[in-house]
Amino acid sequence: AAADPSADAAVRADDRGHVFHSWSAQALIDPLPVAGGKGATFWDYAGNSYLDFSSQLVNLNLGHQHSDLVEAIRRQASRLTTIQPSLANDVRGELARRISQVAPDGFEKVFFTNGGADANENAVRMARACTGRRKVLAMYRSYHGSTSTAISLTGDPRRWANEPSDGSVAHFFGPYPYRSPFHSTTPEEETARALEHLEQTIVLEGASTIAAVIIETVVGTNGVLVPPPGYLPGVRELCDRYGIVYIADEVMVGFGRIGEWFAIDAFNAVPDLITFAKGVNSGYVPLGGVVISDPIAAHFDTVPFPGGLTYSGHPLACAAGVATFEVFERDGILDRVRDLGSRVVEPRLQEIARRHPSVGDVRGRGLFWAIELVRDQETREPLVPFNASGPDAAPVAAVAAECRKSGLWPFTHFNRVHVAPPLVISEDDLIRGLDVIDHALRVADEHAS
Ligand code: PLP
Repeated sequence: AAADPSADAAVRADDRGHVFHSWSAQALIDPLPVAGGKGATFWDYAGNSYLDFSSQLVNLNLGHQHSDLVEAIRRQASRLTTIQPSLANDVRGELARRISQVAPDGFEKVFFTNGGADANENAVRMARACTGRRKVLAMYRSYHGSTSTAISLTGDPRRWANEPSDGSVAHFFGPYPYRSPFHSTTPEEETARALEHLEQTIVLEGASTIAAVIIETVVGTNGVLVPPPGYLPGVRELCDRYGIVYIADEVMVGFGRIGEWFAIDAFNAVPDLITFAKGVNSGYVPLGGVVISDPIAAHFDTVPFPGGLTYSGHPLACAAGVATFEVFERDGILDRVRDLGSRVVEPRLQEIARRHPSVGDVRGRGLFWAIELVRDQETREPLVPFNASGPDAAPVAAVAAECRKSGLWPFTHFNRVHVAPPLVISEDDLIRGLDVIDHALRVADEHAS
């Protein structure tokens, strides 16, 4: 990409003057002006390009400017740009049908939202309406969105400044084999103890007060925590035993991130509601939703659903979603993700783990991985403290800066570097990006013993 200093300055001036950014102290940020993108790469106005190892916010599953999605949006825009949700629309219906076809059996209906947070809001609303109960259990180390119920469900520090939160949410510990809250030494022990802890939480919170349990099928931003075998089936059993609705939050991991349409397919469990967003159409037009199991859908056959959105099932977003299905099927995206994950990423990250004293753990599946950085592999002391910012976070910030200097845009969170490139990334680019991370980790090694 050619440098264009005057465009760079103009974009920067408007942004700094007028755009109020998410999650930020406005005077302390300096957002990079982006000029364009294609596939797994985007570029700025200064002549730098970046291999996108974060898929923006882990939404850009089909990469920047995928021609099929762009064309589908263009075609839909020239035909019917928008239509309100109480009318029937062809692409909205087709996308709902296609989603239900790849969902577990017995999930025929889809409620569309604008994104992930409102998908979770509405899933909770459905669970409350069906059970007549109000409380929701959610995990520590989770993110479910930033609207009022969703941020209350969230089990990471972003909830704190939004408190007091909805008093009807209680948090519990999920499995985390590398830092087991249950002092387990094997995955089997972790599963058994995590389920025992969840059951105790249900009993002590009062099963008769609990509408739902919400779980990210693979915990995303808070660590790429892959559930150990048996955990999610155990959650299903507990929910059945106590009459609780099981909500699987698949906003980040649905639509191919781990090589499945829905991540739950890899873990032998069937929830009652599945929430999605991001990968459904790579975020080309905002879209999310709830896939609804038949018994919950049936509850609203004669009772009106008490929720709605002006843009529910927006035709432009749904057209991009239908095109996403066509691309996934034509190009074998799910097989590709599984193959690249197990053949390229996993062995390379294990090799990186062996070579760098700062790497404590690598874990993941498909094209979704975390490298957890430590000061000491024996004590597992994190490279930076939990929720570190400013100078405390400097060692990880330095790794990220080193990556960017080498043309890689990384995703970092606390003491972790995540690997989450677009699912269409070429094998060469994937290898090149992992090489950049390998090289950048020298900076972290300086803090490790
Ligand atoms: N749930 C999970 C697991 C997420 O990762 C996110 C966003 O990162 C959300 C919910 C919220 O989605 P949105 O930002 O579209 O509201």
